[in-house]
Amino acid sequence: MKKIVLELKDITRNYGDGDQPLQVLKGANFALAQGELTALVAPSGTGKSTLLHIAGLLEHATSGDVFVNGLPCGTMNDDARTAIRRQEIGFVYQFHHLLPEFTALENIMIPQMVAGLTKAEAEKRASQLLDYMRMGHRATHRPAELSGGEQQRVAIARAVANAPVILLADEPTGNLDPETAGYVFDALKALVRQSGLAAIFATHNMELAARMDRRITLEDGKIVER
Ligand code: ADP
Ligand code: MG
Repeated sequence: MKKIVLELKDITRNYGDGDQPLQVLKGANFALAQGELTALVAPSGTGKSTLLHIAGLLEHATSGDVFVNGLPCGTMNDDARTAIRRQEIGFVYQFHHLLPEFTALENIMIPQMVAGLTKAEAEKRASQLLDYMRMGHRATHRPAELSGGEQQRVAIARAVANAPVILLADEPTGNLDPETAGYVFDALKALVRQSGLAAIFATHNMELAARMDRRITLEDGKIVER
């Protein structure tokens, strides 16, 4: 049995606290094993981003708990949650959020240096990751000098710079044309396979979803396996 790295238990999330809060998640349960690449496919507004933010410890659930490597994170203080998020979780958004004044290489070095690696160590790993994402030839370019697909490949490399165990991607190819989306996905899948990362990848692209290990959706605030 593969190790469960992320577990969601009875997650609820309400927005607003009046008489009738908006109940987005209503008891979502899910377990993600090491090395598993899972597609999250559900219509807009059903709670995909909410779910990923809660799983990524960026947001609190209203009730229920999130376990990362078996550790319950719901009642941890913010410092402990931040530490786990930094060490164990990588996040990729629909928009790259790269720092515009730094090169692709530097964008991947910075989180490693924040985590305490030397400049030389960070540069070595950043170069390897860029090569792995087939972006080595763009190392010294700034984000504005890269195409949308290239920016997302750098964003993925940055998300895994500190070797997290979980990668959460919120429609990372949503702004890309289908061919570029396929290319970015290929690179991400190779990275997941090579590193043993567990990943949840929210997408509306059924072709990409078909190429993942599992497919889940959100129905009435619950996670349903497809
Ligand atoms: P998805 O990512 O599937 O499009 P979201 O998780 O972004 O869905 O949103 C789910 C629902 O929760 C939507 O109805 C959205 O309007 C609502 N929602 C999301 N964030 C907030 C917030 N901060 N405050 C109030 N409502 C929110
Ligand atoms: Mg969303």
